Amino acid sequence: MTTATASALPFTPSPNIAQLKESATIAVSARARALKAAGRQVIDLGAGEPDFDTPTFIRRAAQRAIDAGATRYTATEGILPLREAIAAHANAVYRGSDPARPSDIVVSSGSKQSLFNACFVLFGAGDEVLVPTPSWTSYYEMVALAKAVPVPVFGARSRGLKVTAAELADAATSRTRGVMLNSPCNPTGAVYSAEELREILALAADRGWWVISDEIYLHIAYDVPATSVLSLVQDRERLIVINGVAKSYAMTGWRIGWAIAPHAVAAAMTALQSHTTSNPAAVSQHAAVAALTDTEAAQAAITEMVRHFRMRRDAAMAVLDEAGVQYVRPDGAFYLYINVGGDSGAFATRLLDSGGIAVVPGSAFLTPEWVRVSYAAPIEHVVEGVRRLVAAL
Ligand code: PLP
Repeated sequence: MTTATASALPFTPSPNIAQLKESATIAVSARARALKAAGRQVIDLGAGEPDFDTPTFIRRAAQRAIDAGATRYTATEGILPLREAIAAHANAVYRGSDPARPSDIVVSSGSKQSLFNACFVLFGAGDEVLVPTPSWTSYYEMVALAKAVPVPVFGARSRGLKVTAAELADAATSRTRGVMLNSPCNPTGAVYSAEELREILALAADRGWWVISDEIYLHIAYDVPATSVLSLVQDRERLIVINGVAKSYAMTGWRIGWAIAPHAVAAAMTALQSHTTSNPAAVSQHAAVAALTDTEAAQAAITEMVRHFRMRRDAAMAVLDEAGVQYVRPDGAFYLYINVGGDSGAFATRLLDSGGIAVVPGSAFLTPEWVRVSYAAPIEHVVEGVRRLVAAL
C-alpha cells in the first residue's frame, strides 16, 4: 500500500509544455479577482471581455434550443445552420474564385481553440512563423506548442506599432511558413488599413506563406470600419480566417469560434478536434446561429456596444492627452496601449497593490515598456483607472 499523497508526487512537465507560460492576461484577472474576494476595492482594467450581457435575443434563442433538445453531441465541426451562416457572412465580403462553403468551416470552443488547431495542423518542427509584435500573448505559445518557432517582428511607434510588409520580409528566412495577422489588434487597438493588409497579403502570396488572420475584433472599430482580409483576396488557397462571437456579441462565456480555411485544412482541423474536444457546446452553437442570422437585432446590439466603447475610449484619451502620456491611438478593439517608459511588470504590480487598478504589463506582449488598459468597464472606472495610472507615472 502506498502512503504517498498526490501533492507529494514528483512532477516533471513533459517536453510538450516545458516552455509554456501561463496566460498573463488571465493571470492579471485572476489576481484582481482574488484581491476583490479578499475585500479590496479593485478597478479591473485587465480583462479582455466586454462588460455587457449577451443580448436578450441570443439568450432567448439558447433557451428555446435547450427546450427543443440541443443537449447532445453535434457534428465535430459544428451544426450545419451555423456553418451556413458563417459562410454567408464570409461570402458577403469575399469576391474571389472559391466562395466559402460550410465544409470549409470548423466551429470550435472559442476562437482560441480555432487558432491553436490552425497552428497545430499547419506548422511543425523547423518552421518559423512571423508574429507582428506586440500581439496577443497566446500566438507565441500556440506556435511553440506546434513545435515551430514564433518570430516576433516589432512594429514602429510612428505607425502605432503596426508592422509593414517590408519589415516582415526582412524577418523572413527560408524556414518561414506563415504569418499571424490581427486587426484590430490586441493589445494596441491599432487597425491595419486595406492598403497595409494588401501589401502583406501580396508578400505572403509571393512567398507561399500561410496567413492566419484573427478577426475577432473586426466589428469593434471606431472612425472607419476595419477590413477583413477576405475582402482583399482573389483566392483563399493559403488563408485561414478566424473569428467568433465572444467580443462582438458579448458572448465570451459561450465559447464559440471558427476557422474558414481551404477544405483540406478544415478537414485536418476537424480530425484534430475529433480527438481532443469534439464539438463545441450544442446550445452555444444555436445561440451563435441567432447572433449571425438575426442581423438586424445583432447590428443594433453591436452599434450600442461600440457607442459605449467609443465614449470610454474618448474619455480615457482625454485624460492621457492632458497629461501628455504616450499611447497608441486605438481605432478598434477595446484596449489602450500606454507607454510607461520602464519595467511595466513592476509598474502594474504597484498600480494594483497600491492604486487598486488592474492592467496587463506589456511584457506579456513582448513590449515591456507598455501596459494594456482595457476599457471594457464602466466609464467612471475607466476614467478613474486612467487617472490613477497617470498619477502613478
Ligand atoms: N484572439 C484575440 C486577439 C483575443 O484577444 C482573444 C481573447 O482575448 C481571442 C482571440 C480568443 O477569443 P475566444 O473567446 O473566441 O476564444
